[in-house]
Amino acid sequence: MRAIRRFTVRTVLPEALAPLGELALNLRWCWHPETQDIFQAIDPAVWETVGHDPEALLGALPPARLDELAADPRFVTRVAEAANELHDYLSGSLWYQSLAEGTPGGPAAVPRSIAYFSPEFGITSVLPQYSGGLGILAGDHLKSASDLGVPIVGVGLLYRAGYFRQSLSREGWQQEHYPVLDPNGLPISLLRESDGTPVTVSLALPGGRHLHARIWRAAVGRVPLLMLDSDVEENEPAEREVTGRLYGGGTETRLLQELLLGVGGVRALRAYSRVTGAPAPEVFHTNEGHAGFLGLERIRELVAEQSLTWDEALEAVRAGTVFTTHTPVPAGIDRFPRDLVEQHFSGELAPPGVGADRILALGAETYEGGDPGVFNMAVMGLRLGQRANGVSLLHGDVSRGMFAGLWPGFDQDEVPITSITNGVHAPTWVAREALAAAESEGGARDWEGLSRLSDPALWSVRRTLRAKLVEDARRRVREAWLERGASEPELGWIDSALDPDVLTIGFARRVPSYKRLTLMLRDPARLKSLLLHPERPIQIIVAGKAHPADEGGKRFIQDFVRFTDDPEVRHRIVFLPNYDIAMAQTLLPGSDVWLNNPLRPLEASGTSGMKAALNGGLNLSILDGWWDEWYDGENGWAIPTADGVTDPDRRDDLEAQALYDLLENQVAARFYDREAPSAPPARWISMVRHTLQSLGPKVLASRMVRDYVLNLYAPAAASTRALGPSLEPAKELAHWKATVRAGWHDVRVDHVESEGLGDAPEIGTNLHLRAFVSLGSLAPDDVDVQLVHGRVGSDDQLTDTAVVTLHHAEAYEGGRHRYEGQLTLSRTGAFGYSVRILPSTAKTVSSAEMGLVANAVASEPAAVGAPPLR
Ligand SMILES: *Cc1c(COP(=O)(O)O)cnc(C)c1O
Repeated sequence: MRAIRRFTVRTVLPEALAPLGELALNLRWCWHPETQDIFQAIDPAVWETVGHDPEALLGALPPARLDELAADPRFVTRVAEAANELHDYLSGSLWYQSLAEGTPGGPAAVPRSIAYFSPEFGITSVLPQYSGGLGILAGDHLKSASDLGVPIVGVGLLYRAGYFRQSLSREGWQQEHYPVLDPNGLPISLLRESDGTPVTVSLALPGGRHLHARIWRAAVGRVPLLMLDSDVEENEPAEREVTGRLYGGGTETRLLQELLLGVGGVRALRAYSRVTGAPAPEVFHTNEGHAGFLGLERIRELVAEQSLTWDEALEAVRAGTVFTTHTPVPAGIDRFPRDLVEQHFSGELAPPGVGADRILALGAETYEGGDPGVFNMAVMGLRLGQRANGVSLLHGDVSRGMFAGLWPGFDQDEVPITSITNGVHAPTWVAREALAAAESEGGARDWEGLSRLSDPALWSVRRTLRAKLVEDARRRVREAWLERGASEPELGWIDSALDPDVLTIGFARRVPSYKRLTLMLRDPARLKSLLLHPERPIQIIVAGKAHPADEGGKRFIQDFVRFTDDPEVRHRIVFLPNYDIAMAQTLLPGSDVWLNNPLRPLEASGTSGMKAALNGGLNLSILDGWWDEWYDGENGWAIPTADGVTDPDRRDDLEAQALYDLLENQVAARFYDREAPSAPPARWISMVRHTLQSLGPKVLASRMVRDYVLNLYAPAAASTRALGPSLEPAKELAHWKATVRAGWHDVRVDHVESEGLGDAPEIGTNLHLRAFVSLGSLAPDDVDVQLVHGRVGSDDQLTDTAVVTLHHAEAYEGGRHRYEGQLTLSRTGAFGYSVRILPSTAKTVSSAEMGLVANAVASEPAAVGAPPLR
């Protein structure tokens, strides 16, 4: 093959159309239909062929057409008005600005700037830098931050071939294509020094090599997104490939990608501040473990530039770092060979004078069953972030259990990982037809306006969306068959495949095994009978990409495609290749029912069902992720999960059975329950209405971003500011922690005495407690002595616990002390308590932060007012 260097010459717009260039370059167009209309109006046919890509459209126009437009005063005015509107959007005072002015009850500190690091960003299919949910969530996060005025800067990589384009072979086997993107044809611009030379960052690698990268900037509304790109001439060929493919390459390439993202990302931010005067971020958000090296680079800066010790720098960095974990699936967590990480941190990337053991300890799996040979990025994320979260209530709980080994001696509830449930960016995901209908009846242009439509009006919107999906799906099925080698005359059946009046079930997502793409094929005869039911048929539209290295996932796709190839059912069930944002924007709104059947609890949140809900789609899902939290019995259906069944085949059988039963007896029955064949199904529509009303406000990314600001970013900024410019408090905290750690082996609860419980304690009884403890070389100020009380379960564990801090009563010789306190019993039932000693909670954010605790041997359970349950 010839090595061809491709390049794109950017269009030079006539002066009068300059604002058009601005409109194309700011990605706000992708959630602003009025701006899209302007591009469409330029040339509707070309707009379709370029896949609704403004840059590509402008590039495709002959100069004569541009001159013609520049001479059209109506068009020029329209463009100027749109550009003014964009300027207002970019500079207006929004939610965050009112927060920053100090609302009563608002947070004490709001960060001047927040850096958001993610390995992928899914903003528009025109900038294909995502593989699935993680990236789309990141894109929705930036868009909502922009809409709320939150000063975020995104940091990621620019992959030359993005993820991959999916097609099918004749046999239904996934084919991957890697079309090379030319950055000059994308809606991004190079970050440049004031003299015009491109800004670059460099990382020194083992063996004297270097990894250089330039920095592209995308404008996501008000939010800049910086993307590092190693495809530069200064690099050797291997280093140029580092940003070749998203999640591509072997272990070493992956490590280099993550070094570039984390370490290079911080350096890019510093360069960005230097060049543009943007404030330095006070908070760093690590979106999944991949970006975790950002913390190491910040430690290196503090050690090198402010002469902090490792421990001091670690405290300073932790204060401003937020870590979000996204998966309970082990394969989703990056783990590198320890030696490989050590090699890369033996030179310039390591803080000066710090031994490799300190760095390696950050990623060490120090819990039972941990592998001593690996460096775990999620574990490092938790150690470098003082605040951490999962992405739904259930996932928070699962994560606390999963990582509990890092905090031995603590109850699972106390593991310092909270949760913020994901959300989706409504302006991106609500179909335009739905918004227009909502507005036409004088309602709000959103889920709320939609929920207020009359039954016939709401039903008519649903049909419009379904019909649009059917049309789009037919086009895609035809293209897929042509790519599979079929000829036009064989494809006549596609014109009548799918039906705009048949109950439509959508299912699309990445295809890892836990998402169980083929669960619905468990009993093919049963599925066929549902598809071909004479009165109440269903049709199913499926899409999804398998990771290129995942043979199992590709086999699922092939099994599925083979089923859909059957002439008996092919008009009722289809697989659409190349799932991406553009497809999702038609598929999600057009589906009456959005199906999700993961293996509980492996779906951390899931977001596609939220997008369906905002368009009036109903969810049919296993109670996992977000659905476990917000299913209320009326807003869709819960597929019963056979959690306790350990034989995976049997579990799939049971859950598939339940799925078929629900589809037939509940879902289809309700959809086709009409007074007359042409009448809207009243009970269905009431579920749609209820879905819009109950889920509408919850599933929004604007709710999610507000939660991040109030619950994580603002507290992290307060912690950062408390360190002051001198970072003196970080030094003190580090010294204090070192003292506490050194002295902890002498800390213990010697003996506990209680009084007042008697034989038959009742509500209101006062329990008096005296705890005799040894603190060794530590002082009473260094610790909290706590009474932990709660219910006693059948496993002898305390649940529903609460804590009373005992007060220091007396010091004795030899580091021994007496603490006292009391508790008024307020609950009936089996009750137990215990005494423990922790490092002082006044000096830490979470009581489990240091992972140190001295527990007393459990005290006897007692019963209050009623006999014990046991
Ligand atoms: C929303 C979305 C996803 C995420 O889907 P999940 O429900 O989280 O699995 C993946 N891909 C695309 C194109 C999406 O729009």
